[in-house]
Amino acid sequence: MAGIMEHHKVLSETSGGKYTPQEILELEQGFRTDALQQEQEEQEANDNGYCIHCGEELENCTGYKCWI
Ligand SMILES: [Zn+2]
Repeated sequence: MAGIMEHHKVLSETSGGKYTPQEILELEQGFRTDALQQEQEEQEANDNGYCIHCGEELENCTGYKCWI
């Protein structure tokens, strides 16, 4: 099957048959899409001068773990 790699099969086996290699692949791709989307939102907020994490303007943002 296209896209299924050895580590998908291994992950499928280690999940105890909970996931098929195809499902592992889909989960992985879903995760990548989310990460990519988050990156884009962050970039967009940055372009608008806001921090996506705390909602402050970038000059008021403390940076590391600013949302805490
Ligand atoms: Zn911030």
